[in-house]
Amino acid sequence: MRNELTKRIFLACITVFLMTFSLILYVMNTYLMQRNVAELHDRAILLSSAVNEYGWEFLCSVQSGTARITLIDYDGTVLFDSKLNPDKMENHSQREEFQEAIQYGEGESERYSDSILKKTVNYAVRLDNYQVIRVSMNQDTVFRLVVSMLSPVILIVLLMILLSVVLASESSKKIMKPINQLDPENPDDRNIYDEMKPFIRRLIAQNQQIQHQIQQLQEEHKKQDAIRREFTANVSHELKTPLTSISGFAEILRDGYVQEKDVSHFADNIYKEAQRLMTLVNDILKLSRLEDGVTEMYEDRTSINLLALSKSVCERLSLSAQKNNISLSCQGEAVHIIGMPHILEEIIYNICDNAIKYNHSGGFVRVTLYRSDNLAILRIEDNGIGIPEADQERIFERFYRVNKSHSKEVGGTGLGLSIVKHGMALHYARIELDSEEGKGTCIRLCFPL
Ligand code: ADP
Repeated sequence: MRNELTKRIFLACITVFLMTFSLILYVMNTYLMQRNVAELHDRAILLSSAVNEYGWEFLCSVQSGTARITLIDYDGTVLFDSKLNPDKMENHSQREEFQEAIQYGEGESERYSDSILKKTVNYAVRLDNYQVIRVSMNQDTVFRLVVSMLSPVILIVLLMILLSVVLASESSKKIMKPINQLDPENPDDRNIYDEMKPFIRRLIAQNQQIQHQIQQLQEEHKKQDAIRREFTANVSHELKTPLTSISGFAEILRDGYVQEKDVSHFADNIYKEAQRLMTLVNDILKLSRLEDGVTEMYEDRTSINLLALSKSVCERLSLSAQKNNISLSCQGEAVHIIGMPHILEEIIYNICDNAIKYNHSGGFVRVTLYRSDNLAILRIEDNGIGIPEADQERIFERFYRVNKSHSKEVGGTGLGLSIVKHGMALHYARIELDSEEGKGTCIRLCFPL
């Protein structure tokens, strides 16, 4: 059998057929036996009336046919038997049907002889003189019936098998047809049987979901495209400004418009603009690497002593703090987190650098590390110029600066906090910002422990 479905239907059919067949045989057999016993009973009654009337000699003239007639005396001695010589027969006083007949007037028994294929049914009736007349008949059992009808039985069973095979294969074809003809992209729940409808409905729902997801992806793609285009435009613009300056200064120098004493001033301008270009390009590279997520391939996550890392960043910034007359301090608990050391260093550096850059002379920057509810919190607090409420949402966008010229003055690119945002996302960490214009800023970096 080719497929599972056909096999199962076939098994179901053949089981039902065989069970029905056996049941019919059994019922027929029971019915036949009951009829036989009834017939035996009638004969015994008839014979007993005749013997009561005419004496036992009457039995000699009876044609017994397939039945066997026996006359038994009240003590069990066999007086007459239609098939055997009574003298050679044993005493029948222990026979069930005899005992019943003596006691109740009539008795009945069944005995299997030779094998289970053959059965003898006896019916005994007590006569007026307390002798017992017994009629016996051999009866075929259901097994005998089957054995004797072997060829028709085999034929019937073969027919059943054939019918089951045909039924199974036809049914499985009918069941499979709508499934095989189903168009998974356009499932149709009309012209299909009820059991399949939930499946079709699920398929339709799934198709809708896929369609929806495709749409979402397309929209996402468009959005990403727009962001990328905007970024490219921004980058070009940002790079153009220092390049225009450099090219302008160089042109003036080349054409000899600059007096000897001013040359160093122009050279310094070119140097500063070139430095600015370098910083810009570096920041753009860092950001694009973070956005692509390639950092993970270059840098393994390890256990990092966040306090030690913050202290080393403050060390690097101490000169800049001194220059700007800012007091810079770092303290707290030694907390370890799992992270990428270079990215974390970049994050802390950018925030501390901002706190120094956007500050007043004589101001402070305080870095504090502590634990709170399964979080390692690094707080960077300054009493600098603060961020206006309206800009607080946007400062993490690329190239966003509250005050463009001031940022430029202090060497900002507008990319520092974007780098922070992406780096924090790679650490599954959160940024909290509190700032008030003119009063200062407090940034909390919350790392899961
Ligand atoms: P930039 O390179 O200009 O510093 P950032 O992305 O680091 O760019 O910061 C974006 C803007 O957010 C800055 O231009 C500045 O206006 C504002 N900003 C960031 N940190 C502070 C701070 N501690 N105090 C005041 N303003 C800040």
